[in-house]
Amino acid sequence: MTTRRKVLAGTVGALALGAGGLAGRRAWLDREPPAPPASDGRGHGVWANWSGTEHCYPALRAAPASEAELAELVRSAPAPLRPVGAGHSFTALVPSEGTLLSLDRIEGLVTHDASAHTTRVRAGTRLSALGPALAAVGQEMPNLPDINKQSLAGALATATHGTGKGLTALHGQVTAMRIVLPSGEAVECSRDQRAELFHAARVGLGAFGVLSEVTLQNQPLTRVKKSVRLVDTDWVLGEWPALAEKHRNAEFLVLPFTGKSALIVHDPSDEPVRPRGPDNDSQTLMDLKRLRDLFEFAPGLRRRAARMAMRNLPEEIAIDEGWKLLSNERPVRFKEMEYHVPIERQVEALREIIRRIESEARDVFFPIEARIIAADDAWLSPFHGRESGSIAVHAWYKEDNAWMYRLVEPVLREAGGRPHWGKLHSLGRKELAALYPMFAEADAVRRSVDPAGRMMNPFLHRIFG
Ligand SMILES: Cc1cc2nc3c(=O)[nH]c(=O)nc-3n(C[C@H](O)[C@H](O)[C@H](O)COP(=O)(O)OP(=O)(O)OC[C@H]3O[C@@H](n4cnc5c(N)ncnc54)[C@H](O)[C@@H]3O)c2cc1C
Repeated sequence: MTTRRKVLAGTVGALALGAGGLAGRRAWLDREPPAPPASDGRGHGVWANWSGTEHCYPALRAAPASEAELAELVRSAPAPLRPVGAGHSFTALVPSEGTLLSLDRIEGLVTHDASAHTTRVRAGTRLSALGPALAAVGQEMPNLPDINKQSLAGALATATHGTGKGLTALHGQVTAMRIVLPSGEAVECSRDQRAELFHAARVGLGAFGVLSEVTLQNQPLTRVKKSVRLVDTDWVLGEWPALAEKHRNAEFLVLPFTGKSALIVHDPSDEPVRPRGPDNDSQTLMDLKRLRDLFEFAPGLRRRAARMAMRNLPEEIAIDEGWKLLSNERPVRFKEMEYHVPIERQVEALREIIRRIESEARDVFFPIEARIIAADDAWLSPFHGRESGSIAVHAWYKEDNAWMYRLVEPVLREAGGRPHWGKLHSLGRKELAALYPMFAEADAVRRSVDPAGRMMNPFLHRIFG
């Protein structure tokens, strides 16, 4: 069967054969970045995040097995006290020279209500484990992010989101939470109980205490049909509002220097199950890299070669339950910046970013991702009070990403964007306070539960001042 992988790899491979002389230069450019030492002078082992952008040497690393153990650690372990999930944030939210607290052993479903489609979940549960656990009781989360490696608490803490008109980020489905406050006291909060804490800590950056349990409003299991197809970028930019309206979940990935984009949509379906095939995205990505390697200094040739390589790519279809299709494997490591702009500014900002990258950053080969997220009312949610269009740019983990700050971030800021809490940005308290109408109120709650600043690391000091 013809697949995206075969068509693209075949054409790009043939082109690459004709340019073997570049191999030596590339081997040098593609060398591994230096790794941090495995331990520091005090014998503390290294912790590093997924992308390799952050690392630290905590004095204590603990994975309590119960909320009582967790509370004792929160009360007495050396500060800064930083909860850690799967380490998939790109920003320095987690690093601590004091204590790293993993909730990997506080995981799994506690209870569920079959008629209301709600579940009580332990906060360390990974999204990859939550999908099958919810399916076993006939439920699913209404939406999911691009990967499912995150812990539930880690995903909520940074306002992790998927895509879809009218669909909120994950924290939009949280109806109650249990938090171990920095004092060690465990408290319940919801819209009716300690409402200020609930609004401030739902997207909490791990700064309000450690989440131990979460109540989620889910929905009944739904079968969806996923389609991935290549389209002209000009077309998808023009049609985006209509596409977002038409499909339950819609997103597109602009492939810079090609004039093409990958359009990915999911819609409810009662057609027979057609399981997803093997991951094609990683191979496609490395093929785009090879095109960049060959034609970085000849954008016209790069565009023609890409279009030739992509001309016969078939649409990919899969039909299955949503939790099996919405998230993907991402074995190729990268660094990412993502902002959420008011929805009406998204296309205009995207056009300018594509223009800047294609004229001033010819080394970029990763796609530019566009998604849509509904408004919510969590105080530190980037979607607070407004429907948003997200725009994300990526760089291979081995390559320089200064261009994101120089070329892309100013456009996103000018469009009124709020940065994803877990992804690269340069903002501090002054800029963030101006972007979030309830920033001061959220910070006041934070100070009231953590007067001694036990949860604060240097990055959180930058955010909260
Ligand atoms: C390959 C890849 C794909 C991604 N795709 C998406 C996407 O599609 N959409 C999106 O929005 N984001 C995406 N992200 C970003 C990611 O979802 C967020 O950074 C998320 O926060 C990571 O979750 P984690 O479990 O790894 O948390 P970590 O990165 O380990 O921690 C994140 C924050 O959560 C806090 N935290 C962890 N556990 C607790 C707890 N029990 N109580 C309180 N605070 C806690 C930490 O202190 C920290 O502040 C992606 C990241 C990667 C690397």
